Amino acid sequence: MKERDIIEQIRQLAGPDSIDLLQGIGDDCAVIKKMEETVWLLTMDTLIESVHFDCSFHPAGKLGRKAVSVNVSDIAAMGGKPIFVLLSLGLPAGFDEQWLAGFSEGFTGACREYGCLLIGGDTVCSPERVALTITVIGEMKREQVLYRHGARVGDTVWVSGPLGSAAAGLDLFRSGDIPIITELQPLLNAHLDPRAQVKLAVLLARSGCVHAMMDLSDGLATDLSHLCRQSNVGARIMADRLPGCAALSTAADLLKQNRIEWMLSGGEDYELLYTASPDDSENLLQLTAEHGFTIYPVGTIVDGEGVTLVRGQGKICDAEEQNISYQGYDHFKKS
Ligand code: ADP
Ligand code: MG
Repeated sequence: MKERDIIEQIRQLAGPDSIDLLQGIGDDCAVIKKMEETVWLLTMDTLIESVHFDCSFHPAGKLGRKAVSVNVSDIAAMGGKPIFVLLSLGLPAGFDEQWLAGFSEGFTGACREYGCLLIGGDTVCSPERVALTITVIGEMKREQVLYRHGARVGDTVWVSGPLGSAAAGLDLFRSGDIPIITELQPLLNAHLDPRAQVKLAVLLARSGCVHAMMDLSDGLATDLSHLCRQSNVGARIMADRLPGCAALSTAADLLKQNRIEWMLSGGEDYELLYTASPDDSENLLQLTAEHGFTIYPVGTIVDGEGVTLVRGQGKICDAEEQNISYQGYDHFKKS
C-alpha cells in the first residue's frame, strides 16, 4: 500500500466536515474558520531517528531548527504565517543531556526566527529512537489561502528555489567520504538546516496572482502530481528549466549520480511550488525581485492528468516526453 492510499483510506472514514472546517485532509494544512475574514492553519509532521535524520552527522541544534522549519513550511505552503507550535518529544531512556540542550536551543531559536511561540507538547520515553512530532498553527486572511486544487490549464508552474540540494546533501553524508570542498556546503546545509519560505509565501498569497500552491517535501515529481490530481489537470515540466545550485553537478560527478533525478525525485527541498496565469508572469517576477527573491518557471499546466518531463526542448526532432508522475519519496513504496 502506498502512502497516499493509506491517507485516502483514513480520509474516507473521517466523517463529515464541520461547518467551520474549510479544508480537511488532503492539503498541506487543515483550514479552519477563525473570524469572518481570517482562518487558522493547522499542520503536523513527524521526524523519526534513522528514517528522517541520522544523529551521527546531524548536529542536535540543526535538527531542532529543521524540526521547526519542515512544519512551518506547510504553513507557508498555504501562504500563511506560523503563530503557535506544539512539540511531542520521544526520547530513549539513556538520552544524552547535552544533545537535548542543543536540540532545545535550535528548536526555540528557529521558533523565534519564524515569529512563532512554543506553547505546549508532550514528553515521553521512546524504545530506541528519538521521535519528534510537531504541530504548527498559523493564520491568514481567508480569501488569500492558496490551496493545491486551484491550478488551471495554461498556468505556468513555478518553483521558488534550487531543487535537489537536500537529496544530494543527504547522499553526500551517506557516502561517508565527503571531500572538504566548501562548494558542497550549501548541499549539506540544505539537508541539515532547510529554511521555510514564509516571507515569499505571504507575498505570493497577497499578490492575488497565484492559483495553487504547496511546498516541496517529497520531490517535484510527486508533489506536482498531488497538485495536478487535486486540480484535475496535468503538467509538463521542462528538464532544461529546472533550477539546481552550482554544486549539484560537482556532487553528481563525485557520487556518479544524475542531477536531474535529484531535482525531480529528491525530497526535503521545502521550496514553494505554485501556478499562475502566464499573463501574470511579469508581475510576479517584478514583485518577487523587489523583495530579493528569485523564482523559476519550470513548466505548464495542461489538460489531462499526470506529470511529464520534456527533454531536449526547442530541438523538435530530439524532444522526448517521459511520464514522471509520483516518482518521488514515498514512505511505503517498495523499491
Ligand atoms: P505534507 O507532505 O504536506 O506534510 P502529507 O503528504 O504528509 O502532506 O499529508 C497529506 C494530507 O494528508 C495532509 O492533509 C495531512 O494532514 C493528511 N494526513 C496524513 N496522514 C494522515 C493521517 N494519518 N490521518 C489523517 N490525515 C492524514
Ligand atoms: Mg506540504
